[in-house]
Amino acid sequence: MLQKLFKRELGFYLIFVFLLSGCENITPQKYPFVYSGAIMGTRFSIKATHIPEQASVEKLQQLILMRLQAINQRMSTYLKDSELSLLNTLSSTEPQIISAELYKVLDTAQNISQLSGGAFDITVGPLVNLWGFGPDIMLSQAPKPEAINQLLAQTGYTKLQLHKQDLMATKELASLSMDLSALAKGYAVDEVARILEEQGIKDYLVEIGGEIRLKGNNLQGKKWRIAIEKPTINKRELEKVVAITDTAMATSGDYRNFFEQEGQRFSHTIDPRTGYPISHKLASVTVLTETCMLADAWATAFMVLGPEEAYKMAEQQQLAVFFIIKTEQGFAERATPLFTEYTKVKQ
Ligand code: ADP
Ligand code: MG
Repeated sequence: MLQKLFKRELGFYLIFVFLLSGCENITPQKYPFVYSGAIMGTRFSIKATHIPEQASVEKLQQLILMRLQAINQRMSTYLKDSELSLLNTLSSTEPQIISAELYKVLDTAQNISQLSGGAFDITVGPLVNLWGFGPDIMLSQAPKPEAINQLLAQTGYTKLQLHKQDLMATKELASLSMDLSALAKGYAVDEVARILEEQGIKDYLVEIGGEIRLKGNNLQGKKWRIAIEKPTINKRELEKVVAITDTAMATSGDYRNFFEQEGQRFSHTIDPRTGYPISHKLASVTVLTETCMLADAWATAFMVLGPEEAYKMAEQQQLAVFFIIKTEQGFAERATPLFTEYTKVKQ
């Protein structure tokens, strides 16, 4: 019997990371710059501890919003006229000139695909849609194996060629389609951080849909306190609070966005190598690294790879990674030595 249990919360496309900024509520002080809103199918939130005297809050907000909208207009698969959507729908195998920005994100994605042995793959889009997790309609049952096999033959990151010299992209199959949802939010976080730094801001927190970048100190003059959520389905609980700064952090998990059929849970992360949603015991992965785009992409790659393979690769890549793994009793934690070292509470 079919169970129609959609767990997707519209508008919130990912894991929430609680943002704790110390004793903000009990101090009369306020952050001189706070800005939040909606973008990329999720919410963003930005805080700066100090802003230069001559800086205008309105101008800063405007700069940030314009940047976020421009990124969305290039990389969204929800906007039918975004640069990426136009490339996706273009039925041509000729090289196409693309913007430097789109090139940069596609190139990063291709690097992570190679390093992860194809676990990360932005051409997985048609399979994501087939499973009902893309911009198309949602599903109430698993697709047929024939449909999956057919799409597997038409996907694969090696079918996308990038030409650095002339900023071009070639789809070796005219129907090839790319989905940047797994790293575009991270890229957008990096871009907002860049704007803040250009404006002389040295202490900030930037967050888009749970992907974060931190610099300097919070209002209490300490590292930023960030909580990683427990991967429970219907309630919000904290797993761990870390005091970190001068880093980016991204989390990927399969507990907010999935559907169930006959007691089986289908995650929104698709294994591009098989065409099926992942089905291992890894519930959530948090990656700390220099840029949020890389943290975001690796978090997704690790989510596909599963607890053992991901741990090995995280060590190999010298990344600070925190895993939450489902067990009979609840959840187990595992961290790479770099994560443990990085998050030792040193205020
Ligand atoms: P979230 O959107 O929850 O932050 P991720 O950053 O892990 O999660 O991105 C998940 C999105 O990435 C999916 O909604 C889908 O569009 C896309 N995706 C799914 N599987 C893969 C994959 N193996 N490689 C790259 N992108 C993927
Ligand atoms: Mg990601």
